[in-house]
Amino acid sequence: LADKMKIQPSAIVKKLFLQGKIVTVNQEVDYDAAEEIAMEFDCLCEKEEVIDVIEELLKEDEEDEKKMKKRPPVVCVMGHVDHGKTSLLDAIRDTDVTQGEAGGITQHIGASVVSVNGEKITFLDTPGHEAFTAMRMRGANSTDIAILVVAADDGVMPQTIEAINHAKAAGIEIVVAINKIDKPSANIERVKQELTEYELIPEDWGGSTIFVPVSAHTKEGIDDLMEMILLTAEVMELKANPIRRARGLVIEAELDKGKGPVATVLVQKGTLRIGDPIAAGSAYGKVRAMMDDRGRRVKEAGPSMPVEILGLNDVPNAGEVFVACGNEKEARSFAETFINQGRVKMLEETKSKMSLDDLFSQIQEGNLKELGIIVKADVQGSVEALKQSLIKISNEEVVVKIIHGGVGAINESDVSLAAASNAIIIGFNVRPDATAKETADREGVDMRLYRVIYNAIEDVEAAMKGMLEPVF
Ligand code: GDP
Repeated sequence: LADKMKIQPSAIVKKLFLQGKIVTVNQEVDYDAAEEIAMEFDCLCEKEEVIDVIEELLKEDEEDEKKMKKRPPVVCVMGHVDHGKTSLLDAIRDTDVTQGEAGGITQHIGASVVSVNGEKITFLDTPGHEAFTAMRMRGANSTDIAILVVAADDGVMPQTIEAINHAKAAGIEIVVAINKIDKPSANIERVKQELTEYELIPEDWGGSTIFVPVSAHTKEGIDDLMEMILLTAEVMELKANPIRRARGLVIEAELDKGKGPVATVLVQKGTLRIGDPIAAGSAYGKVRAMMDDRGRRVKEAGPSMPVEILGLNDVPNAGEVFVACGNEKEARSFAETFINQGRVKMLEETKSKMSLDDLFSQIQEGNLKELGIIVKADVQGSVEALKQSLIKISNEEVVVKIIHGGVGAINESDVSLAAASNAIIIGFNVRPDATAKETADREGVDMRLYRVIYNAIEDVEAAMKGMLEPVF
């Protein structure tokens, strides 16, 4: 039968096996079964291939070391509101001399590329950690290096701490930019001192974090900052294979009245070319035109390059994975399979599965070595007391790790961090705000509120022993 159908016998064995029928290559199949197999096979084998592709994509595919080439770092800018994230991004783009060249008007495409001494750096244009945490909730990592902006006249503030913890949870390298040094009230040493509390210790104090004093206004220190980013990238040995079908992430997308769906994608591997059939989440199509961050038409885009593309049939979500395919049919079935199975699967996989209720069973299955907790409380004293007590609950099997702690209501940033890091949230004398509650429900984040510290400790302790009383 396999011969007649011109397919591998193992493919039929595999298919029957998936239906629960165990056969060997030499076994006869009756006519009915053969017909059924032949009829189904056409479309099914295609679907299975697509599922295989998705599975392959979800795993980090192994690459041939010889084909790996150096790629530019992808950088984002984070920090407290008003500390100068937007100004710094603008200043960075301004110092790029090549910007002044013909056609050099910066377009907003969601990311931009800056050249420094002939080397490129890609910046994500959305300041803040929302950009990459939203992607991380979908299981995708977009950023290599985060510039943590701290205003020299203001020091470490709540969102500075938030940003640090988001970056740490994502495993992103942090470079600190102490901004606004032109201000008379600037105090660089104080910022350094304050950050040591968060394990960001300057090299001249025996640590390993790079600190660069800058001014987005006078542009002082910006060149240094760029050099330090390139140096950090060098150490990280960022590489990708440029000679393969492209894959990467959707940075942002919208429906343009004249052009139709427009998506900015970040190529992470391979090279994307005009004419390539592609699938981006549930959207698909053929790359009709590509534009770089200066609005110039380009024919191809390699690793770490952001480009705006036209030609998709629909608007994909930011954070969705895109893949270049062999032909349009493959792109289409990829998108359809993604809708039918991949999406559900991806969502399930990335959805926070952590809950105190099934903590014990996860521990027993050996799935869990670390329990991530985010602590929010009404006053700093309680945050510290909770942190200290919770860490002590760690036993041989599971380490309790506080991935973030802070004063104030549980906000969306806390929930997205929990969702992306598979952590739970403990609130003491605080409540979630409306959007946080909504996101927590949607992402399946376990959020527990207490009025007595002891009860919180007791619950986590009981959950680790499998003795937590269910809540009705
Ligand atoms: P963001 O909220 O972090 O994006 O901060 P912005 O870039 O919007 O900057 C907030 C304010 O700080 C604005 O009024 C800026 O003009 C000012 N600012 C930003 N960088 C500097 C700087 O280096 N020096 C001074 N003096 N002011 C700055």
